[in-house]
Amino acid sequence: MTVTRERPLTYAKMRALVSFFSALLKGKKVGFSDFLHKRLSSQHLCQHLDPQQILQPQCKLRGEEGDEGTVCLFSPQGSENTQTSQTKPSDFDYLKVIGKGSFGKVLLARHRQHGRYYAVKVLQKQIAKRKEKHVMVERSVLLKGLHHPFLVGLHFSFQTPNALYFVLDYVNGGELFYHLQRVGKFPEPRAAFYAAEMTMALGYLHSLDIAYRDLKPENILLDSEGHVMLTDFGLCKEGVAIGGIMHTFCGTPEYLAPEVLQGRPYSPAVDWWGLGTVLFEMLYGRPPFYSHSKARMFENILHAPLQLRSGVSRATRSLLKGLLERDVSKRLGASRDLVELQEHPFFASINWDDLLARKVRPPFIPKVNGPCDVSYIDPVFTLQPVPASVNERCQAGGGRSSEAFQGFSFTNPAEYMAAEPGS
Ligand code: ATP
Ligand code: MG
Repeated sequence: MTVTRERPLTYAKMRALVSFFSALLKGKKVGFSDFLHKRLSSQHLCQHLDPQQILQPQCKLRGEEGDEGTVCLFSPQGSENTQTSQTKPSDFDYLKVIGKGSFGKVLLARHRQHGRYYAVKVLQKQIAKRKEKHVMVERSVLLKGLHHPFLVGLHFSFQTPNALYFVLDYVNGGELFYHLQRVGKFPEPRAAFYAAEMTMALGYLHSLDIAYRDLKPENILLDSEGHVMLTDFGLCKEGVAIGGIMHTFCGTPEYLAPEVLQGRPYSPAVDWWGLGTVLFEMLYGRPPFYSHSKARMFENILHAPLQLRSGVSRATRSLLKGLLERDVSKRLGASRDLVELQEHPFFASINWDDLLARKVRPPFIPKVNGPCDVSYIDPVFTLQPVPASVNERCQAGGGRSSEAFQGFSFTNPAEYMAAEPGS
């Protein structure tokens, strides 16, 4: 199937079709009929609302330079694993499969004792072990991300002999691009709102010396109020390691910055390129440089001129040009990061303080009936049976065997507070 610039909707449809068939083949991602969504939206897993508690700030963190140059690893100050988690798989009821990642499944779960809902990401150790560092990066980054309104927070992590568990905020407004696929493109104000919230989240990560690096549709979720939530801090995409990426890359390159594709050293400015690709897709209905041939797409990202068709404002074009600049030193955000973007005329209507305080009313509010409503989650996942293996017994002694990921277990102090009688 050919995708042309003249027919922007074709890309969305094609993407949904490809996703649907690949989901059938591989048990993976996205793109199913609205009919099924409507059917499932009437199925609710619970009768009552149970509002998530707001997390409290927790331990301070320090950065250490990783062996990938500018990518930093983080661990809590002092010794790793100061909070040893007693949490185990049987503390939760697993209700639905809600996603699939490279290492395992993401499940909707309810805590048996206090009844709150979470997304539990279960990574199979035999796969995760090969990328142990990335798994620990994801955990450490999640610890840092707890303070931001547009980043998914981590409540617990623990392990069993075969799997690692991340217990995360459950975000149930659907993937941003599920909503984009339904309408083809967003009007500028809607795109500006999402781009602004992403900008705040990315700027926050950069202030902690973290490059998110993997901004792409599947990792941008909407919460039940319609705000952006970035998930997936694994930095563990197949082939994204520095060097040799052109040969080993198995995923889709649409959203990757040229310097990442070329295996050159990169800075947090990779994320401003990523934001440019996502903003472009929100406005035009397909990513910039897209081609159905992966090789051509690599080529386009590295060399093709950026085509900005009419139909968007001058400020928008200027922002897209600034973000999708291959010369990193000239890219918008390369020198003063977040501030440079905030000053851009595209964001002139954004009140950044109100935005951060979640006071700006989102342009679209998902219709969800409480935290356990899965109507915006792809039925490709929700129709799958919950694997019995998620209830595996916990790793004895906190995990000292050769299979153990040392220092993995964690309980957010806010959870201890929540467990206190009278809290
Ligand atoms: P991939 O490599 O395919 O990007 P991954 O291993 O990085 O996957 P995630 O992106 O973290 O895994 O999760 C896979 C999918 O599960 C997401 O695309 C999203 O649809 C869903 N998901 C992840 N975290 C949450 C969450 N906190 N709440 C709701 N859904 C989630
Ligand atoms: Mg992901």
